[in-house]
Amino acid sequence: MKFGGTSVLGAQGMDRAASILAGSPPGVVAVVSAMAGTTDLLLQGVESAAAGRPGLEAAAAETRRAHLAAAGDLLSGQELADLVTEVEEVTAKYRADGARLAASPSDSDRYQEAASSAGELLSASLLAAVLRERGVKAAAVDSAELLLTDGHPLAATPLIPESRERVRGRLLPLLQSGTLPVVTGFRAGTARGEVTTLGRGGSDHSATLIAEVLPAAEVWIWTDVDGMLTADPRLVPDARLLPEVSYAEALELSYFGAKVLHRSAVLPAASSGIRIRIKNTMRPEGPGTVIEGRAPAPGGARAVTLVEEACLLTITASPGAGLNRLAGEVFGRFADARITTLLVTQSSAEDVICVAVPVVELAAARRVLRQASYLRALDVQDQVSVVVVVGEAMRGTAGIAGKMFGALGNQGINVIAISQGSSELAVAAVVKRRDVGDAVRTLHRVLKLSHPEGGPGAPPQVLR
Ligand code: ADP
Ligand code: ASP
Ligand code: MG
Repeated sequence: MKFGGTSVLGAQGMDRAASILAGSPPGVVAVVSAMAGTTDLLLQGVESAAAGRPGLEAAAAETRRAHLAAAGDLLSGQELADLVTEVEEVTAKYRADGARLAASPSDSDRYQEAASSAGELLSASLLAAVLRERGVKAAAVDSAELLLTDGHPLAATPLIPESRERVRGRLLPLLQSGTLPVVTGFRAGTARGEVTTLGRGGSDHSATLIAEVLPAAEVWIWTDVDGMLTADPRLVPDARLLPEVSYAEALELSYFGAKVLHRSAVLPAASSGIRIRIKNTMRPEGPGTVIEGRAPAPGGARAVTLVEEACLLTITASPGAGLNRLAGEVFGRFADARITTLLVTQSSAEDVICVAVPVVELAAARRVLRQASYLRALDVQDQVSVVVVVGEAMRGTAGIAGKMFGALGNQGINVIAISQGSSELAVAAVVKRRDVGDAVRTLHRVLKLSHPEGGPGAPPQVLR
């Protein structure tokens, strides 16, 4: 069971998560994120330190305050005393990492990863202590010692066989002795003992990785919405709960920005056939979403999602190089630099490829392309978003793309680039960023996504 940042926020969140765990059958492993806001704060602190500005001490002080306040409400006696010591130690280490980061720019990624994941150490220790205070045997475990990665800065890839041995070696004895392990999400480590992370939002991935190697029967993702919805409810108020989603659909939705599940989290579960459930901590009795290998649900399009901050790179080949040589070079280099390719289109006649990547990866993409030998010109449009309609049953259903682009056109929304693979699982369109909210709502409406599959017209549920 993985608990997200809002699900462990403050004394109330910790108390709720502990109740869910205390009421669960034996054999559960908990994975926790940092309290909501903590990772951002810790990162701001170290970024300030790296830039020679004040801010590190304030971030440490606020982190310390928030955790001590929650601990003070929920713990007493020795548990409280131990937790206070732990908070002091972790925040002191955070300040030291921040100072080292400022002093040695060449090692900055390493210290940044250790510092930014300090919140998970605190939330795991606190939740384990709250459980023990309630009489549940529980132990906090640092996943930096369990999940081994290749150590690639800020985008590490997990090493499965090595992680399997460590996870099983550490967690199975705890489970056999009736102790509930409370494992830090987000954090992983190298064989040399350095801390790496699994990327922002990566605690979902921690949970499915641990599930894969144990192996677990199911993974439950506890979060702040009722499950996977037909759209982000922050953008589409009448978004509807999807009770069942296939692995393939979940993969598309999470890859294209449905934050409720991290984009790397689906594969470990899918490859071992482990069912994922998504549930709302605030409404544990709700059915949630079940993600598993299943036949496509009827009804064509099922959900619409978006990567809001994207950019579109138009890459032109040097004379005579040809599109294939250019593509081979560009994508080879993108792979080495771990750049996310959101969408690709090409114009063979003009020897041009067009690639959408997340804005946060633009600087890295530019760096890589500067070294490319078959490239003549690079044009960047950085104020765009990628909107994606997903549904396995779209395969072979005529008219969905027509409906989508007709509706966007009627709304006056210009489509800059389009892609659909032969699996017909997802149709993606690039639009101006200022149009993206409208585009998502328009597609949700015209594809009737708030209507239950197979039965038109039922009123949408209110989910938040
Ligand atoms: P946690 O902190 O529990 O990991 P996140 O904030 O990472 O939670 O993810 C949950 C959020 O994902 C929701 O609050 C919602 O705004 C967003 N979201 C985006 N797309 C979807 C979707 N299709 N279904 C459900 N939630 C979505
Ligand atoms: N705390 C980390 C983040 O904010 C990881 C996570 O919450 O999944 O990105
Ligand atoms: Mg998340």
